[in-house]
Amino acid sequence: MDRYFELIDKLKKERTLSAAEWAALIKNRSPKLSEYLFSLAREEQERYYGKDIFLRGLIEFSNYCRNDCLYCGIRRSNKKARRYRLDEDTILSCCREGYGLGFRTFVLQSGEDASFTEDRLANLVRKIRKNFPDCAITLSVGEWKKESYQAFFDAGANRYLLRHETRNDEHYAMLHPPSLRAENRRQCLWNLKEIGYQVGTGFMVGAPYQTPEFLAEDMLFLKELNPQMVGIGPFIPHRDTPFKEQPAGTLSLTLFLLGCIRLMLPKVLLPATTALGTIHPEGRELGILAGANVVMPNLSPKNVRGDYLLYDNKICTGEESAQCRESLERKINAIGYRTVTARGDSLNL
Ligand code: SAH
Repeated sequence: MDRYFELIDKLKKERTLSAAEWAALIKNRSPKLSEYLFSLAREEQERYYGKDIFLRGLIEFSNYCRNDCLYCGIRRSNKKARRYRLDEDTILSCCREGYGLGFRTFVLQSGEDASFTEDRLANLVRKIRKNFPDCAITLSVGEWKKESYQAFFDAGANRYLLRHETRNDEHYAMLHPPSLRAENRRQCLWNLKEIGYQVGTGFMVGAPYQTPEFLAEDMLFLKELNPQMVGIGPFIPHRDTPFKEQPAGTLSLTLFLLGCIRLMLPKVLLPATTALGTIHPEGRELGILAGANVVMPNLSPKNVRGDYLLYDNKICTGEESAQCRESLERKINAIGYRTVTARGDSLNL
């Protein structure tokens, strides 16, 4: 038992563990060990970010996708998904509404929708940049060649979210069709970093076939990439995917890994994700108490919100943006934290 408390002390001191230590820690976690981890993670979080929780306004602008990831509800093969894409004016008016609500970061996320070409996306970014010069623009639009990432950056995008999904290539192949390559995705991340984006990566907790050893590889990859943001959330099955019978990732493992990531990369921006809020009514609050410091309320128009369904039972699909933001703020205040409207650039630069 003591050995694992010592491993957590070692993680705090050395900011990393070996693959074998990571796997042992993950296998042998217990409620007591978790409490200890979370108390250290909160200390680190406060040292750099105080009680501040950053808000990002999420605009899910298209659910068309050319890819066929086995876990994802908007995969190409899902003929039941009701497809939509927002036009530029609608996206800009989401930003305007968000700006009024205090958001200074817009996260534009979509499937890999071929109708959004490089030019079209770059133009969209340029318009947002021109209209909202004091805001950060985050893209989460999948894999592109380096020149395209550069074009989006030159148009005014600052940050990019692209989860590596799993560092283990065999595991990656169990979750994706053969056309998608783990190595490609990692190369995208290095390209994004090189261009100068603040980069976010991450993975699903409890993804099908995941093992503690695979998670150990994920932790080492996070250490190596040293991203500005890390997005992790539980895998949740979607009824119209091949993984519909697979169990969801757990609250306790997700919280444990959030705490570990906070100790390993103390200055990183770490969202308490919507998926975490979906598997447990207090998931996001518990995420903050385990070391998370970002929340991403939805700014998508109400009429399409129920269609951006990566997994079943997603929360906040029926709310107005303002309601979404207010209820989250209340919950955050109730646990002793405050939401801030600052751009919230990473200190991990
Ligand atoms: N197409 C873009 C962004 C949209 S998907 C991209 O490829 O990056 C955003 C993230 O949602 C994915 O990286 C994945 O980790 C997560 N996701 C997809 N399906 C999920 C599911 N069933 N449960 C939980 N998370 C899921």
